[in-house]
Amino acid sequence: MTALSDHRPGGTEGLVHQRAYLDWNATAPLSPAARRAMIAALDLVGNPSSVHREGRTARAVIDAAREDIAALAGASPADIVFTSGATEANATVLSVGWDTIFAAGVEHDSVTASVRASKARTVPLPVGQDGLANGVAFAKEVLGGSVPLSRALLSLQLANNETGVIQAVSDFAALARSHGVAVHCDAVQGAGRLPLSLNQLGVDYLTLSAHKIGGPKGIGALVIQDGSPFAPLIRGGGHERGRRAGTENVAAIAGFGAAAAEARQALAAVDQMRVLRDRLEDGVRRITPAAVIVGAQSPRLANTSCIALAGQAAETLVIKFDLAGIAVSAGSACSSGKVGKSAALAAMDLPDDIARSAIRVSIGPTTTSADVDAFLAAWSSVTRRPAKAA
Ligand code: PMP
Repeated sequence: MTALSDHRPGGTEGLVHQRAYLDWNATAPLSPAARRAMIAALDLVGNPSSVHREGRTARAVIDAAREDIAALAGASPADIVFTSGATEANATVLSVGWDTIFAAGVEHDSVTASVRASKARTVPLPVGQDGLANGVAFAKEVLGGSVPLSRALLSLQLANNETGVIQAVSDFAALARSHGVAVHCDAVQGAGRLPLSLNQLGVDYLTLSAHKIGGPKGIGALVIQDGSPFAPLIRGGGHERGRRAGTENVAAIAGFGAAAAEARQALAAVDQMRVLRDRLEDGVRRITPAAVIVGAQSPRLANTSCIALAGQAAETLVIKFDLAGIAVSAGSACSSGKVGKSAALAAMDLPDDIARSAIRVSIGPTTTSADVDAFLAAWSSVTRRPAKAA
């Protein structure tokens, strides 16, 4: 099992508790290579915009990271704009000044909230119970002529953070761009798990986040196809070629670069993750035949499992797993004391008792068979009695 230091108040710091960390879609553990790169960069004195040697040394670290991230994204280094994370990258694209935005309800909150805040006409894309955006409905909108397509954007995620369902982004993008609609893809959950290429996806913008691939939290990138419409969200100095002002977070960028280099290699571990994930799902079905694996009939990330069992409450399950030493997360969000369903699962129009009971289990390259065994033992015990929230 994954050994994690448990820093508790009360003098037990340093004790190592064996826990199974199965929440990689929320954030991945910092990789040793990213940690080393960050520590080395922390001691660099110069401002990367300064012309003296100290400045140039810091700039060289950023340039090297930019190359690694461009290689991960199948883009050129000049296309990469560093941001404070994927949330900012998504907000930047969505605030470029679109007249129309097409987006599905399964998008991450950072997309849906920015769409809601924009002045654009919003065209919701229907999503099936399989988690897939409806291409026929999109084609009807695009070809039907009822929506003006000048200054229009389609925002479609590569893979869903809760279900792992993979969208047919390149098909949507081909149709969209042939009708002058720009395309944004939030590829946060696909990085290191699927081959990525800005050109092969055929999109104008791609969003990445470092902390989902073993880099630090608080750094991400927007990848922009040369010539695509753009307006900076954060203005000031000429950093990032005028596309995102503010002195660069050199250490975080260095960690992101190291993680990106590793993420390209991590594709080799995808089959191993699929074997573990499938064993976990087989075990769940054996223990509780009524369990539903959300999105199982669709193309899915190999590391993600969204498990629902009517009669259970997701929030309660997450707490019980935590007490059993296992970190998973709930598909449902808790607001104002009320347990609600996640917007993504709601958009899929799943039955209420499925949406409200769904938990997400997500694994990574260092997840072990013992982690899966621990999960299944806990699943067996926590589902023995119905666990409805009060
Ligand atoms: N998009 C997706 C699909 C995500 O899973 C996340 C993180 N949960 C984000 C965007 C936001 O990323 P960040 O934490 O870097 O802002």
